[in-house]
Amino acid sequence: MSSIGDNIVRIKERIDTAARRSGRDAGSVRLVAVSKTVGISRIREAVEAGQLLFGENYVKDAVEKIGGLGPELSWHFIGNLQTNKARLAAELFDVVETVDRAKLAFALNKHLMELDRSMHALVQVNVGAESQKSGVMPDKLEELLVEIKSCSALQVTGLMAIPPFSDNPEETRPYFSMLRELGYALVEKGLLGINAPLELSMGMSGDFEVAIEEGATLVRVGSALFGERE
Ligand SMILES: *Cc1c(COP(=O)(O)O)cnc(C)c1O
Repeated sequence: MSSIGDNIVRIKERIDTAARRSGRDAGSVRLVAVSKTVGISRIREAVEAGQLLFGENYVKDAVEKIGGLGPELSWHFIGNLQTNKARLAAELFDVVETVDRAKLAFALNKHLMELDRSMHALVQVNVGAESQKSGVMPDKLEELLVEIKSCSALQVTGLMAIPPFSDNPEETRPYFSMLRELGYALVEKGLLGINAPLELSMGMSGDFEVAIEEGATLVRVGSALFGERE
């Protein structure tokens, strides 16, 4: 079995290669190491290999990890966020990638103001229009962005998606390009990309290279770094 450190080096090489292949600067893509179900000691191995950005799906699991691992790390929330966990999420995370409804944005904004801090966020888009998945439907995205524009402590900088599952990354490619086109259209309309460059969080262990070719600025990789989850 390869070590977490080796995996990180290898994934970063693949990120660089995919970026260069598509005429992009390797520095324009950041790796979010998805550490759901991964314990502190294995996360620490990743930190020792230079990985400082992590993604967590569950607020409760993240409390101990974030508290135990030191202030130099950044944490993105990438799971389904219940409104009653918004306060804790506002305290703990640097970015919430899964804002998909106005109620959640308003709750985060309120808690951030009370905490006297601000946060970047992404809006999760249900690119496959799958009924069981969270994320705002593509045709409701613009309306949501307009609605939450007034959130002064929660700055939306881009979009995130989890496309329908497929073993073949080429089948996922159209969903990645869809997210990019949605993002570009919103930049044109002045709803994104105003104070910070457009972020596109897309691509996981099985398809992050295709996502980079389609414009990903954040790739969320779990099992390829930490091994298969139980
Ligand atoms: C678990 C998870 C990932 C990572 O998936 P892998 O296939 O293990 O790389 C990425 N994004 C989200 C939202 C996840 O829940």
